[in-house]
Amino acid sequence: MSNSSTFAQSRRYDTAIYARLSRDRSGLSENVNIQIAEASAYADDEGWPVVGIYKDNDISASKYSTKPRDDYDRMLTAVRRGQINVILITEMPRLYRRLEELLTVIKLAETTGLRRIQTTDGINYDLSTAEGIHAAINAVNNAMLEAGRMSKRIKRKSRARAMAGKVHGGGRPFGYEADGLTIRESEAAVIRECAERFIAGESIRDIVLDLNARDIRTAMGKEWRIENLQRTIMKKRYIGVREYEGQEYPAEWPAILTREQWDRMEARRLSKRYRWPKGQTGVRKYLLTGLIYCGKCGGVMVGSGRSEENGRPAQMRYRCRRTDNHGRVIGCGASFRIAEPVELLVKEAICHVFDDPKVAVTLAPKVDKDKVRGLVQEYERRKAKLDQLVTDYATDVLTRDQFVQAKGIAEASVQEAREALAHYQEETTAARLPADQTIRDAWDSSGLTWRRSVAQLVIKKVIVKPGHPGSARWRGYRFNPDLIEIQWKL
Ligand SMILES: [Zn+2]
Repeated sequence: MSNSSTFAQSRRYDTAIYARLSRDRSGLSENVNIQIAEASAYADDEGWPVVGIYKDNDISASKYSTKPRDDYDRMLTAVRRGQINVILITEMPRLYRRLEELLTVIKLAETTGLRRIQTTDGINYDLSTAEGIHAAINAVNNAMLEAGRMSKRIKRKSRARAMAGKVHGGGRPFGYEADGLTIRESEAAVIRECAERFIAGESIRDIVLDLNARDIRTAMGKEWRIENLQRTIMKKRYIGVREYEGQEYPAEWPAILTREQWDRMEARRLSKRYRWPKGQTGVRKYLLTGLIYCGKCGGVMVGSGRSEENGRPAQMRYRCRRTDNHGRVIGCGASFRIAEPVELLVKEAICHVFDDPKVAVTLAPKVDKDKVRGLVQEYERRKAKLDQLVTDYATDVLTRDQFVQAKGIAEASVQEAREALAHYQEETTAARLPADQTIRDAWDSSGLTWRRSVAQLVIKKVIVKPGHPGSARWRGYRFNPDLIEIQWKL
């Protein structure tokens, strides 16, 4: 295998997303669509092309389960055909509870393009290295242990607790004190207000804007986000219902909303006219996200496809972003530009810069391996601590109250470590240029992640100036290159 083909191959990130509903696991992203949205957003951030989405619903993940996983098998077929480099999941137990299954995939990685299993919390199981394989095996082992615990004592306990309407573990629910039983009146008033405003036809976005402006914070003390508030107000907890495995039980805590209010919110949510706001989950790929700005208002521009309509073909475009995730107005929202010619222009400008070999050498980023290892270890350490709490609770070392309290703190600490790692990884994505390739060759044979990291190395900003690009022609596009300004970091 020649250097250049090794290089091209090592840069491929064709990604399969796998999601599964597992009934015997409490906690994280239960809903399959939420898992897919989370993974899609992750792939989008990384710039990985998603070539397949596979989901298995309603199937027990326990090692005793013998039900087939149809989409899982379809995904393995795609791996065997060499179509997949990355399997992306929200957490390891989504994929495996049985070691034999993982071993099959490790074998496949030897003979196909499959290179890694990636979780959305930033862990990369590199199947081409002994360390990566070892880490993957450990993760599955841990999941099996946990499943064993879940499937015996805790599971029995959980069901009994649910049927008695007892509080679920986890952080403090908004509207209640940490015990989950006592209403916190100031927050309960907010829940009632939000429900009434939503029923009355107000948009979630406007409500979020208003809450944040009034300094009303989530139970975690954060600003409200659109997705967060919509999920919160629909929780059945607020109508005094304890849910467990799809069943509803009368809860031991007092309700804040009436069943009627909930039904009316649900009716509005399901009505055809109402568009439930979505987070950014698209899988379209844009080179300049984070680098491109609106020349009219100075705000950020984001990739935004125009779908096919009235015979006009679909088109990838950059658009000035009007509101942020909190619903605040951050830009004019009035500028658009076709993505293709902008990206072509930027590519040519970058190639021109890299034609100077001295520039190319000085630009190579230095990834601090020790730092990455340190961040991963810290993250693993905090996660292990969280696991230990579950064990302590299961073996009655901790009382439920102690467990709930300690778990909240441990989860926040895991989250913090995870974000630190993700942030560093983003900063240092390698953009090395192999000796035997020109930037032009590398550009054409590499994926978006690599192109983006190169662009981020040399470009400070791309500014889309206002004007009428449609009146000019450039390389067959209705596009005026004079209306694009590139600001360099050099
Ligand atoms: Zn603008």
